[in-house]
Amino acid sequence: MSCSSENLSGKPRCREMLQKILDGDASPEEQREFQEHMQQCLPCYNAYELEMAIRVLLQTRCNGHGAPPELIEKIKQQIQTIR
Ligand SMILES: [Zn+2]
Repeated sequence: MSCSSENLSGKPRCREMLQKILDGDASPEEQREFQEHMQQCLPCYNAYELEMAIRVLLQTRCNGHGAPPELIEKIKQQIQTIR
């Protein structure tokens, strides 16, 4: 089962789940479910890794002079490519 085929059949569950995880709205059960899902769904895994990379980047950069917008844009574009 892959993310893209789910998306094609109009099943947005992957993205909803990912968004919830990233927003910190997911229950422990949902988090576990998503962790399992990521192991079979490369698009979700990649999107998750990228989102986390952005967060870390923002956190580290915000302590100094702020994140360089080009870099954030670049990462966002990578996410869009995956989506
Ligand atoms: Zn997925």
